[in-house]
Parts: sequence; structure tokens; C-alpha cells
Amino acid sequence: EIMKKSSKQETVKVIVRCRPLSAQEKENGHSKIVHMRTQVGQIELRNPKDHEDTKDFTFDAIYDENSTQSDLYEETFRDLVDSVLNGYNATIFAYGQTGTGKTHTMEGKSDDPQQRGVIYKCIEHIFEHMAASHNQEEYLVRASYLEIYQEEIRDLLEAESNKKLEIKERPDGGVYVKDLTSRLTRSIAEIQDVMIRGNAHRSVGRTNMNEHSSRSHAIFMITVECSRIGADGESHITVGRLNLVDLAGSERQSKTGATGDRFKEATKINLSLSALGNVIKALVDAKSAHVPYRDSKLTRLLQDSLGGNSKTVMVACIGPASYNYEETIGTLRYANRAKNI
Ligand code: ADP
Ligand code: MG
Repeated sequence: EIMKKSSKQETVKVIVRCRPLSAQEKENGHSKIVHMRTQVGQIELRNPKDHEDTKDFTFDAIYDENSTQSDLYEETFRDLVDSVLNGYNATIFAYGQTGTGKTHTMEGKSDDPQQRGVIYKCIEHIFEHMAASHNQEEYLVRASYLEIYQEEIRDLLEAESNKKLEIKERPDGGVYVKDLTSRLTRSIAEIQDVMIRGNAHRSVGRTNMNEHSSRSHAIFMITVECSRIGADGESHITVGRLNLVDLAGSERQSKTGATGDRFKEATKINLSLSALGNVIKALVDAKSAHVPYRDSKLTRLLQDSLGGNSKTVMVACIGPASYNYEETIGTLRYANRAKNI
């Protein structure tokens, strides 16, 4: 009964979001080099050293500094959550240089309803859908939270344990993380609490939380199991999973002058982000038969949520200021590669 998509291209969508200039950037007199024509999805990037030199990029959807969290949700993310409620897998990635709005897009600020990010909105959407469903449907919602740091997987819902978790494959080809905590949650408050606790564990033993979060991938997973009584009077179970991924910062390390361990760390981040780019590229490229999931923990872990009947949205986050020119080009090029052709 599951319809196979005839074309690979429908499954991946790339959008770009540019944050406003920060107060600090304004104070320091940085100019804006990013100009967005949102109606036509066109971005113009101006070289701060040579005003004649501009580069144009075009995307399915772009969001400028005036875009709100609900603009993104209603136009781009809502569909994915609907498909998860119908038993499909979906993944949302936030990609970009540190400080460009990945965490703002994924989490935002919980205390201000206008600033709540996509994780909060997904949770509300799922629980509202359940509340409105008729009594022939029964739902179970589970949450897991993990991070990948230096190609090692850590459970963010197990406070004490620094245990490295392993990825295992089931006989049917599905992948899972062995011993990963999965919490059954019965309300919006309960699942938000799981997220908040996980976030707290992210920073345990970290001297610099910002630095840590810019070097690790955080994945919040919501699994929705639904049992429906069909026309035949039998119950049918569907399971959909939503992966919400706040990626490590994409900044090039030459700029920060990393050496030694820092350099090794940076190399691993660059490897996993380029592995992700290659997987997405292979998925959108109809000619490509091989999808290189095995090249990183991140892509291996998300293997059964990328491609096939799963939907993926990549949000490429950029900053508007002139001093970010090189990084912004890098992000737009990465996003461009992942785009449908
Ligand atoms: P990242 O997670 O990519 O390192 P953050 O999400 O922490 O970046 O954003 C850096 C700063 O910019 C934060 O103070 C955040 O509140 C602010 N910010 C990011 N995106 C936006 C936006 N679209 N509108 C307003 N403020 C934003
Ligand atoms: Mg962040």
C-alpha cells in the first residue's frame, strides 16, 4: 500500500535562511552583502572587496531576515510532519557556519511563542493532531536525543553515561542505535521536558558550550506509532520517525588556525558534512545508483530516513555581513549541490 515515488527528486528540498545583522555587527559598521529576492528565490552575494563581483544563486525557497519561525513552518516543515503522522520518515537538517541561526531555526527561544523553533512546532503539531483524531486511532510518541561528536555517538538522555553507542543493522536492512534511550511521552510538556534535559546533558563537563555545540551534531528523534482500525476491522500499525538535526558548524578550520587535536576534530566534522552532502547529492541525482551512506556515522544513522519514501529538508543558514563572505559562499555552494537539478 506504500506508494513508491517514481522520481528521487521529490524527496529532498533545500531552503536558505539569512539572519538579520546582529546589534554587534551594526555597531561595528559591517555592511550587508546578501540580497534576497524572495519572490523568485534568488540570492545575490556581493564581494566586499570588489563591488563589481556578484554571485547569483537560485533556490526553491529562501527566507530573508524578516522571515518568521511560522513562515518556515507553514511553508516548508508542516508537510513533513504530516507525512510522519502517516507513517513515513522525515529529516530536517540545519546547516551553516556557527552563529548563522541553526539552533535558532531548530529550537529558537522557548519563552517567546513567536521565537519557538521547528522542534517546538513539530511537537505541538503532533500532539494537536492526536488530540483531534477519532478514537479508532491510537498513538504512541517516543523521543530520543543523541549527539555525534568526533564520530562517536552519545545518548543525551543518559546523564552519567559517557558510553559510546553503536549503530546496528536489523535483518530487514533498517538501522538503529543499540541501547539508545527512547522515552515514551504523553504530552507536549513531557516531550519538551525530554528535549530540555537532553540539552542540559549536552553541556555537561563542557567548559565552552558554544564551542562544543559548534563541533557536534545533535539529533532529536521523534517516533510516532499509530494503530488504526481499518475497514476490515483489524488494527494496522504505522511507524513514522522525524529526525531534527542541528549540525556542527560548517566553518573552514584554516580560518580559526586549528592545530593538533583541534585539527583532527575539525577534519572529522568536515568529513561528515561532506559525506552528508554526497548522500544528498546522490539522492537528488536520478542517475546516481549508489548512495554512500556508510561514509559517516551521521549518514549511516539516518540511512532509513534519507531517500526512498522519506522526505528531507536542508535549511542552509547564512549571515548577511561582509566579513562572512567566504563562509557564505561555501554554504550556498554546498546547498546548491544538494538542490534538485
Ligand atoms: P548557530 O546555532 O548556527 O551557531 P544561533 O542559532 O545560536 O546560531 O544564532 C546566533 C545568534 O543569532 C543568536 O543570538 C540567535 O538568537 C540570533 N539569530 C539567529 N537567527 C536569527 C533570526 N532569524 N532572527 C533573529 N535572530 C536570529
Ligand atoms: Mg547552535
